[in-house]
Amino acid sequence: MGKSRRQFLQLCAAGMAACGANPLFALDSSSTPNAREAMHYEKLSDRRVRCQLCPRECVVADLERGTCGVRENRDGKYFTLVHSNPCALNNDPIEKKPLFHFHPGINAFSLATAGCNMECRFCQNWEISQFRPEQVPSERYTPDDIVVSAQRVGAGAIAFTYSEPVIFYEYMRDICLAARGTGLGRVMISNGYIQSKPMKQLLPYLDAVKIDFKAFSESFYRDTCSAHLAPVLKTLQLIHDAGVWLELVILVIPTLNDSEREFDAMTRWVVQKLGRDVPLHFTRFHPMYKLQNLPPTPVSTLEKAREIALKNGVRYAYAGNVPGHPSENTVCPFCHTTLIQRRGFHIMYNRIQDSRCPKCKKTIAGKWHRD
Ligand code: SF4
Repeated sequence: MGKSRRQFLQLCAAGMAACGANPLFALDSSSTPNAREAMHYEKLSDRRVRCQLCPRECVVADLERGTCGVRENRDGKYFTLVHSNPCALNNDPIEKKPLFHFHPGINAFSLATAGCNMECRFCQNWEISQFRPEQVPSERYTPDDIVVSAQRVGAGAIAFTYSEPVIFYEYMRDICLAARGTGLGRVMISNGYIQSKPMKQLLPYLDAVKIDFKAFSESFYRDTCSAHLAPVLKTLQLIHDAGVWLELVILVIPTLNDSEREFDAMTRWVVQKLGRDVPLHFTRFHPMYKLQNLPPTPVSTLEKAREIALKNGVRYAYAGNVPGHPSENTVCPFCHTTLIQRRGFHIMYNRIQDSRCPKCKKTIAGKWHRD
């Protein structure tokens, strides 16, 4: 956790270059955390508080912080330190999130603050997710500033992403409110580790959610992410029940979550609980952060996962992080016409017309038109 600002900026620049991101803003001035009272907590005796935002339910003594490092008890009141305090701002293709069935080809004005409520050993954004706000360079951007900035760069959506938006819940919610009526989509890229009440309150403001469905085993969530599986399953069900567009990413890591049995159990659960139309992205792992000892995922493993998903009834299954692979394309599940051809984050063509396959006229699940 102890890292100088200079070291952080070097890492940030290297990370952005590695993932092809062009930062819109040079976030090189540290700012004092902008505290405001948090939502979703209860006051306890002895000026302690219990956070009720995520399943960790941190009980926090006066002048201490919760596990995510961005919420602080000040004299028995709980504060968020990251409202209006983003540490990353970029204008990314929506395909990079990845969301493949949500207005293909638009850009999403993407932002993050420091902090996370999980500790994934493979985190690719650990330079911001595993740090406290005062350890990460950031700038002051109010919700209105974010909306104006998104409009200025011609984005079609605002994406809460990179670290974990659950921990900047109040900021995310206020940006969603500020963006109402602007035509900007509001999308959350999350681990889904949130309690039901705050999630239900947030869902009416969201247009799409991508969840990193990290595995289908409690042992993986416990040992590799310091979390639990059951709350994530509950969140997925809530999103589905609310009718908010949902896509899932499964980062397939050799030896940890890559068994055929797990692919089978996971995709059966998805079809049974969420239906056949939720797109699944099986993406390739590369050695990262604390998991430097494992090799990249063989492409054949992703192909096997996709095959199992399709066999179990999933209509849209993709292989991710394999540029040029044919399963980056969207294919009609009914007549097998290629509908959207992609190369990396680029759309080569999109043949979907009025949300339908132009050949067999069946409806293709997704959000294809701006309302
Ligand atoms: S959001 Fe942060 S403080 Fe609240 S329960 Fe989760 S980890 Fe703890």
